[in-house]
Amino acid sequence: MMTIPFGDAKRQYNALREGLDAAVREVFESGWFILGEQTQRFAAEFAQFCGAKFAVGVASGTEAIQLALLACGIAAGDEVITVSNTCVPTVAAMSAIAVVPVFVDIDDATFTLDPTQIEARISPKTRAILPVHLYGQCAEMTPILEIARAHRLMVIEDCAQAHGATYCGRMAGTMGDAAAFSFYPSKNLGAFGDAGMVVTNQEQIAQNVRLLRNYGQTTRYVHCIKGYNSRMDELQAALLRAKLPHLNAWNARRREIAHRYHAAFAPFGLRCPLEGAGRVHCYHLYVLKVPQRDRFQTLLHDKGIQTLIHYPVPVHLQEAYAECRPQGAHLPCTERGAAEILSIPLFAELTDAEVDYIIQAVVETHEQLA
Ligand SMILES: *Cc1c(COP(=O)(O)O)cnc(C)c1O
Repeated sequence: MMTIPFGDAKRQYNALREGLDAAVREVFESGWFILGEQTQRFAAEFAQFCGAKFAVGVASGTEAIQLALLACGIAAGDEVITVSNTCVPTVAAMSAIAVVPVFVDIDDATFTLDPTQIEARISPKTRAILPVHLYGQCAEMTPILEIARAHRLMVIEDCAQAHGATYCGRMAGTMGDAAAFSFYPSKNLGAFGDAGMVVTNQEQIAQNVRLLRNYGQTTRYVHCIKGYNSRMDELQAALLRAKLPHLNAWNARRREIAHRYHAAFAPFGLRCPLEGAGRVHCYHLYVLKVPQRDRFQTLLHDKGIQTLIHYPVPVHLQEAYAECRPQGAHLPCTERGAAEILSIPLFAELTDAEVDYIIQAVVETHEQLA
């Protein structure tokens, strides 16, 4: 029997050890740790990767969302339309600045924001739409951008799971007014700690984020607005610079494994992630939908395979966000989905033998429960 973890940061470290160790040494020897050359260079390199004009490094993905909202002029009491089928930080970033999340349901096939539900939830207080490119696949941006234009709303993309994903040839992070990326260690591009980035094509928004992340300081001890301390540090920037050149190859390997899973699972009627039209999925996660999910998970665990659930409880059903439950309506696709989803291991360093083993175990489990 094999034992296969859900992810394994050590494999990547071992493969890139020399470059990563050298990056750390360079920062230690420079004696400069906050807002320096590494942060600046990584921002420029990441902006280029995305094909965006500006990128500003911040302390985490959550704070990237928070500062992007503020930089777009969204303030306390404003409403932002988003999904409940996401990682809690999408919404935590709003509550941190008293912005009110308004949830719409997801599309059953792609698990991303269902654009047909937006207009019914627009109120005089609505200021923005915040689609989440969940699991590594872009939300359906064409109608989202059209609705935003018609109602004069800002669009902020949550790209925490979508480094390198595309929609009709456009990179995630370049379609809205601003976008937030996370470099949490397990993301497609992960730091060795917390880090995040705001990406935008608008100079004013980039400038606002630069001020907000550094206590609103223009030059030393001169503060023109109230800000925060939310800076990417030099060490994370240097490490991320060493990893960025590998991101395209890692994403290609993730897609290759995902397509092997699809090909093997589809004939057995297993419900696999659907790739929406015109979208290149970067497979941050491979999420199956299985009816007896908890049994399925236990049986895979017994076969040595670690799985996770993204996410077992939608945000609007969390105790902390009870006040955000949509009145009257509920979110059937979100709620039904949460009971069936199961993420199986998918990372670039999985060996072909491990992929074969996972395929066999998933098919066997599916037959056992049929
Ligand atoms: C990881 C994640 C975040 C938060 O990023 P952190 O860097 O952990 O703060 C936000 N939204 C989504 C969808 C995420 O997956």
